[in-house]
Amino acid sequence: MREHGIAAEHIAEADLVTRRGTFRTVAFRDPLDGNEHIALVHGDPHGKENVLVRVHSECVTGDIFGAMRCECGDQLAAALDAIVAEPAGVLVYLRGHEGRGIGLVAKVRTHVLQDEQGLDTVDSATALGYPVDRRDFGPAARVLKYLGVRSVRLMSNNADKIKALESHGIVVAARVPLLIEANAHNIRYLTAKRDRLGHDLPHLDGYDAYSRLGTAGC
Ligand SMILES: [Zn+2]
Repeated sequence: MREHGIAAEHIAEADLVTRRGTFRTVAFRDPLDGNEHIALVHGDPHGKENVLVRVHSECVTGDIFGAMRCECGDQLAAALDAIVAEPAGVLVYLRGHEGRGIGLVAKVRTHVLQDEQGLDTVDSATALGYPVDRRDFGPAARVLKYLGVRSVRLMSNNADKIKALESHGIVVAARVPLLIEANAHNIRYLTAKRDRLGHDLPHLDGYDAYSRLGTAGC
């Protein structure tokens, strides 16, 4: 086992043809969190600097079913579109990250409080005794090391994600904004991410955090 720490028997690779193009799919079981994650690799990022990377947290409701209360599905699609436009890029899809790591059942419980009591994504979690964010980005760092990526341009609006990857030894050369246009359904979630979680969302300037429009999060 090398620096990345992923055992050979817990990793598998194959080509994956998608509607956007052909990726190398790298499935792996992380040695620390025990979850199975997946990286979609476009081109050959091995030994390269400034590789365009998205580290995406699993959101079944947004990614698979197209829920409009969050922007996860749109971010996933936009990130893949950007990656295939580059010579090399990587999307790391992290499992076990539902609701910023509280799990799917807990996440849906927070939706009830958001919808019935008007709480935002932060208060609905804490009211139920859940942590606001318990995601671990170590698995993303480990697979990026496995892939031999030397430095990344990270598509994210979240400075904490950069710090987390850097704490695991990944060189983040730049942050690339991944801004999704707001709509009536996700505006309260987006403004809460801006105002409560410190995400950099300049395209929301002028939107009222206390808008009565929409639901309140994913
Ligand atoms: Zn979501």
